[in-house]
Amino acid sequence: MNTSSLKVPSLELKRYNRNNIYSLLRENRELSRQSIVTGLGLSLPTVVQNLNKLLEDGLIREAGMQSNTGGRKAKTYAIIANARTAIGLDISRNHVVAVAINLRGEIIGNLRVKLVFSQTPEYYSRIGKLVDELIYAANIDPSSILGVGISIPGLISADLSTSYYCRVLEVDRLTREEFAPYIPYPIHLYHDAIASAFAESWQNKKDKTFFYMFLSYSIGGAILIDSSVYPGCNHRSAEIGHMKLVANGRQCYCGKRGCMDPYCSAKALIGISDGDLKEFFYLLHQHHKQAQLVWEEYLCNLSLAIHNIRMLFDCNIVLGGRIGEELDQYLDVLREKVALLDPFSDNADFLSVCTFKTESAAVGSALHFIEQYVSEI
Ligand SMILES: [Zn+2]
Repeated sequence: MNTSSLKVPSLELKRYNRNNIYSLLRENRELSRQSIVTGLGLSLPTVVQNLNKLLEDGLIREAGMQSNTGGRKAKTYAIIANARTAIGLDISRNHVVAVAINLRGEIIGNLRVKLVFSQTPEYYSRIGKLVDELIYAANIDPSSILGVGISIPGLISADLSTSYYCRVLEVDRLTREEFAPYIPYPIHLYHDAIASAFAESWQNKKDKTFFYMFLSYSIGGAILIDSSVYPGCNHRSAEIGHMKLVANGRQCYCGKRGCMDPYCSAKALIGISDGDLKEFFYLLHQHHKQAQLVWEEYLCNLSLAIHNIRMLFDCNIVLGGRIGEELDQYLDVLREKVALLDPFSDNADFLSVCTFKTESAAVGSALHFIEQYVSEI
């Protein structure tokens, strides 16, 4: 008899049980052995054996005591959330955001600096220093770092090593090897819109299929089908920034005319606020006349784009990115505009504002490392 064929399922089952126990602990602050036995339908010896292994690996700790129904107190266990960490960077033309997250996906450090992108050793060296500053400021043990995910406003190759077509950064090609001499951890590159959509789907687990509109200084999108990104045949799906909104309309940075980007990115708003998006929303909240006119036109254009996406995908649509984050108080008026375009429905309840509002692109880039690690525990 081939004994190896018997061993493999047993090892897989062990890992499966351990992973389920860890995941249950991760979803809860702390649990007793009996709660895990009940929650997962496992035997007490199996739970004890796996808890001991997780304790030995430094992934969980004894957390405290909990009252049982019988009046006796039971020991509880909790994950050591900072046992592993990951870093996410969000690189845009004029800024860099750096976040550190732990195994619960909690942000444990966050820095944002003004730094104009340039494809030079000086720039990459400054990025490396920023990562060091974050590690120091958040008091992170460097040996806990699983990797650094870098969000780029450009298309990304399937192996996450290369960004191409990054016209927002005004370069044709960007590779992780350029960062590597200054960042001594595994590096993956991510498309900014996909990273943000991933953070959103991680936070809001109820909605597994949706279209994420990334409305920022440039425009992107991501199609999530049952929590997986649909990449397209050439890894450039959901590039809605270049969907045509107006025939022969405004000039787009891609070189063509009438794309959605010049109508629905921050560029359409910040002309009256000295290039500053926060300042634009401040003016709007102050009922500044010009800001109100610009905003009304913006919402009309955005509603057209939303309508087209809805007709194509017939799924929920989430508004994210730096503009999406500001849209809560304008959601009703936007829904009204979108509903007027809809031949099938008199409401646009499918439209929502992102729930993940803190540096979603950076966090989403870091989350990939965390989720991969957790899936292999
Ligand atoms: Zn374009």
